[in-house]
Amino acid sequence: MPRTNADTLTFTDFQFDPKLQEGLDAMGFSKPTPIQEKAIPVIMANRDLIGCAQTGTGKTAAYVLPVINKMIRNDHRHLNTLIIVPTRELAQQIDQQIEGFGYFTGVSSIPVYGGGDGATWDQQKRALEHGADIIIATPGRLIALLAGDSVDLSRLQHLILDEADRMLDMGFFEDILKIIGYLPKQRQTLLFSATMPPKIRQLAQRILHEPEEITLALAKPAAGVLQQAYVVYDRQKPELLKHVLKTYPWNSAILFASRKETVKQLDRAFAKSNFPARAFHSDLEQAEREELMRAFKNKQIKLLIGTDVLSRGIDVEGISLVINWDVPPDPEDYVHRIGRTARAETTGTAITFVNEEDQRKFSYIEKLIEREVPKVALPESLGDGPAYQPELKRKSAFRGGGNGRRKFSGKRSR
Ligand code: AMP
Repeated sequence: MPRTNADTLTFTDFQFDPKLQEGLDAMGFSKPTPIQEKAIPVIMANRDLIGCAQTGTGKTAAYVLPVINKMIRNDHRHLNTLIIVPTRELAQQIDQQIEGFGYFTGVSSIPVYGGGDGATWDQQKRALEHGADIIIATPGRLIALLAGDSVDLSRLQHLILDEADRMLDMGFFEDILKIIGYLPKQRQTLLFSATMPPKIRQLAQRILHEPEEITLALAKPAAGVLQQAYVVYDRQKPELLKHVLKTYPWNSAILFASRKETVKQLDRAFAKSNFPARAFHSDLEQAEREELMRAFKNKQIKLLIGTDVLSRGIDVEGISLVINWDVPPDPEDYVHRIGRTARAETTGTAITFVNEEDQRKFSYIEKLIEREVPKVALPESLGDGPAYQPELKRKSAFRGGGNGRRKFSGKRSR
């Protein structure tokens, strides 16, 4: 459960409709988290909002609850709210939360995302024509449906952009503007983003009206995560991985790699050794991805291998070990990666493999999280690794390309 405020504010203080309060009670939510405490009154007052908060802070409920509450009180029998998200997994998770909160309210939602077969497309199209109060959509699929006249957005009241920075990273800027072209000008717009690079500011300026701004400092990794690093040469990593999987206690783990190609290579290596590991990446069919997530949640798959797409938004309980095959390109992704373990106040371990090129990046991560991660000696059988010299300037420490995301400026300025 995300951190809640120490004072005594409870959800009953928002005086939500009793049907919504019943849903909250059923889901066991009693105290709002800081983002909920700040955002809910703003949204209930019909103001536009920029919320700078990451996954795990309770940001979904922060916008879903007030929006559902308004719908119960108004006549909501038309498409009322559009939530745009970067990935289908996030769309599904938000849909599930709406189903939970809205169970007693009669408010309905449909997730709309790409992938899947022709049947999925027809199903989504029919569901939209039939009508729902809330659509949660990835940009590409929504544009396709809009072009086919399957969605009537003319009476929309709320537009919500979730994980806006990730959407821009994925190249959805133009698509988002295109979608907004279909919406009524008179509406409430809420934008949530983990970071606020200039491109997000630019987007916010274009689509929000005198927004309130709420910023939550980047959550530091949960206290329950034991963090360790091994300083290694690339050629030592496969043996080291075996060692880690054998010697650390775990029953459910994620192995992160920064590149899809590396994920696939690791997947092939595990397949050869019959280890219960599977890779999760964007080349998989939609049905395969869903099946994989289900199997991982049920613990049929013990180890999931994935890129940073997995590090955000995936809400799976009971992951006891996170292994970083490499150091993520953005320090904040490290926090997201290791945040997959030690959720719900449990404990977990996060191990990072740091090669020579990644040392500098790793030292910036240590600055960001304001602590030094212990470097553990390699097992004797592997021989010596490189020395840890992060101050040495190596060419590839910085990620190239100007995608507008914050680079390694060390500590966050908020
Ligand atoms: P989110 O940041 O929206 O992805 O939420 C992270 C997780 O925290 C989800 O599993 C939510 O169901 C849960 N959560 C959000 N708000 C609360 C709350 N006020 N009390 C308990 N759990 C919560």
